[in-house]
Amino acid sequence: MSKKHILVSEVGPRDGLQSIKTIMPTEAKKRWIKAMADCGIKEIEVGSFVPASLFPQLADTAEIVRYAIAIEGLQVAALVPNFKGAVAAIEAGVHKLSIPFSVSETHCLKNLRRNHQEVIQEVAKISQYIAQLPVAQRPHFETSLSTAFGCTLEGVVAESKVLSSAEKLIEAGADEVGLSDTTGYANPAQVTRLVNGIKSCVGNDKLTGVHLHNTRGLGLANALAAIEAGIETIDSSMGGLGGCPFAPGASGNIVTEDLVFMLQAMGFETGIDLPKLLLVRDILKQALPAEPLYGFTPDAGLPKGFVGSQGS
Ligand code: ZN
Repeated sequence: MSKKHILVSEVGPRDGLQSIKTIMPTEAKKRWIKAMADCGIKEIEVGSFVPASLFPQLADTAEIVRYAIAIEGLQVAALVPNFKGAVAAIEAGVHKLSIPFSVSETHCLKNLRRNHQEVIQEVAKISQYIAQLPVAQRPHFETSLSTAFGCTLEGVVAESKVLSSAEKLIEAGADEVGLSDTTGYANPAQVTRLVNGIKSCVGNDKLTGVHLHNTRGLGLANALAAIEAGIETIDSSMGGLGGCPFAPGASGNIVTEDLVFMLQAMGFETGIDLPKLLLVRDILKQALPAEPLYGFTPDAGLPKGFVGSQGS
């Protein structure tokens, strides 16, 4: 009997590094990405094609993409804010690109300086650009439904608005929508409702991944709710890197090490060698000595008798 496989998509090099002021040296980023891939991590979001003036810590994204796509078996993803960023990402050779669409329009304007209609136009332009590329060069194109569970600016985000946004983005040509708890507001019941709601609006194959934060300690509970609702890809970041500017002491994304521990303990297949992955934190500690790293499993160690090595 084959076990259910869950894809752990590591977003630390993008979401984690984007949230901290310290600039991680390019060589350290490469070592970190390679070491995670060597542990069996199959997908890594390695950066974002944003202006270097705004995010100097991600200024080397194109170089990092070119490095990462040479790692065998690794799916390389990047975030893009607009059409221009998408073209740069495709030129660098990404396998997957993602543009954030904040369901809260106030957040959208602040994040991308574009309203909903304008972001949808960018999505259409990107999808048309991808469509004219030779098939082998077409990246997977995702739009993430950011602030889907609530917004620090607008507060409650209506679920009907999340569903209608998903429909518009798919109509505009995105391959898939991702569900994103940008603000760490989500709870498991809400995750179940939204995953089911979006799947029934746009189709099961158009929502396969969720992006969760652990701001209020519900990250793993939300991940499990998502998996039970049929989600197969969970974003997480090593050491919960990045923290949360709105909640001192809280980690950023779900901690990859804790997520992998939960999945493997429950019998899901991840292809990840967890004992080996725990050692990779040393690269982060050395490169970013002032940044706090989170995670219960790394602190407590693996339980006695735990079979943590799944290889790939
Ligand atoms: Zn995030």
